[in-house]
Amino acid sequence: MFQSQMLIDGQDLPLEEGSGRRAVIYNPANQEAVAEVAVGRRQDARLALKAAERAFPLWSAESSQKRGEILHEAAARVRDSSERIARLLTLEQGKPLKFARTEVLSSADVLDYYAEEGKRNYGEWIEGPRSRSIVLHQPIGVAALITPWNYPVDLLAWKVAPCLAAGCTFVAKPPSLAPLAATEFVRTVCSAGLPAGAANVVHGPGGEVGAELVESPISRKIAFTGETATGRWIMAAAAAHIKRISLELGGQSPFIVCADADIKAAAASAAQRAFSNMGQICISVNRIYVADDVAEAFTDELVARAEWFKIGNGLDPDVDLGPMFSRAQRDKTREHVADSMEKGAELLFGGREPEGEAYEKGYFFLPTVLCRADHKMKVMREETFGPVAPLMKFKSLEEAISLANDSPYGLAAYIFTSDLKTALKAAEGLEAGGIGVNVNNVVDLQAPFGGWKESGLGRELGRWGLEAYMETKHIRLGMG
Ligand code: NDP
Repeated sequence: MFQSQMLIDGQDLPLEEGSGRRAVIYNPANQEAVAEVAVGRRQDARLALKAAERAFPLWSAESSQKRGEILHEAAARVRDSSERIARLLTLEQGKPLKFARTEVLSSADVLDYYAEEGKRNYGEWIEGPRSRSIVLHQPIGVAALITPWNYPVDLLAWKVAPCLAAGCTFVAKPPSLAPLAATEFVRTVCSAGLPAGAANVVHGPGGEVGAELVESPISRKIAFTGETATGRWIMAAAAAHIKRISLELGGQSPFIVCADADIKAAAASAAQRAFSNMGQICISVNRIYVADDVAEAFTDELVARAEWFKIGNGLDPDVDLGPMFSRAQRDKTREHVADSMEKGAELLFGGREPEGEAYEKGYFFLPTVLCRADHKMKVMREETFGPVAPLMKFKSLEEAISLANDSPYGLAAYIFTSDLKTALKAAEGLEAGGIGVNVNNVVDLQAPFGGWKESGLGRELGRWGLEAYMETKHIRLGMG
């Protein structure tokens, strides 16, 4: 069985060392054991933080050109190892292998991007009447990078690459139930020529190992992706040392379909973003508001799309959707569907596990379409994190925007229309960090990604992602 070790101070920690605790990772498609993992304690997190602290003066003193070379080499090595890492990702998380490959390869692209962006860390020169000011951006120090299980490699790459490009060192804590691919990703990056201790990985429970990374005075920056409740706790704990924090939290994204939209394109986009990765995406389409006049045509098209997906074990090359990540995720999805139906929604497709021997041992669930949804239902208010697309009709754009904004979340929002004025009016009025106009994705490596309201704080990707690992310094020169 594959064994996943922690990586501390440039060394793989044998499973029998550290706390000696181990856990088994199971494949959500069939519950077969796929790996054994070392489970750390607070003590391991402390060792890793100290290693990162020792490595910081070395790594931050490297030129941005040298750091860029190492990051490009890391990207090349991740590409060379992509098949092996992607397979681990499918085995532990469930997603189809073709999408696991895309995730790992796009993580290599993130490394390449920040290898170059790190060189564009320009300062500023300001002239005063009797002084000159120089503004510098310098690396914060040791960062704790804490990530969830839905995109365990990509979301870690969004942190690892700018962190290293900025000159910071880090300790990563991958999700306990899916640590394999993320750990191999960091191990591969580390092999590209980083000083020992610049990149560390510790495993173990968030409430123990993750909490140590957040609470220790050694970490100066916390970059976290996960649930809003965990983010709230991290924000409070980080206050003790006024740490720099980036929080990418939950979402409940609205998708508005106007009467003048290309209905086929809108339905295809909504289905893909609502059901891919089994709806376990922070920017998944969670609530669909459709104009009265086109509601019937759009609904028929969406149901046809939902029927089209092939579900199965992610290792099967023909599969579009794998299992859900865990029993808890599937139970929550089932419960949210039941809640909607009790409150008056109509089930048009799915709402249950697929039938057949191939699905008996895994956490499978059919893509689900509900109509007559309203804001009393959990699917419209809470993060289901499952493959459910609830539909609600609207009469005017103002009503649609107001419904879309009626949420504590504000990560992404989408609108489909063929009118530029409608698109701009909606984009300006929607309360979210990313607005998709006639597209179902708001992620672009060069553009800022992050949430409004309870969806987060700070931005990842683009130059904003690099700034998140820098402190600003003002040097004033007297000229009197
Ligand atoms: P969690 O918040 O439960 O866990 C995320 C990570 O935090 C895990 O590594 C977890 O460890 C760790 N953790 C848990 N408690 C603590 C703590 N007290 N201190 C430090 N670390 C802790 O999220 P999920 O893994 O359930 O991920 C799903 C969530 O992530 C959804 O809400 C989703 O919306 C959000 N997400 C947000 C994105 C965004 O960009 N806004 C993108 C993707 C997902 P352990 O695994 O051991 O519990």
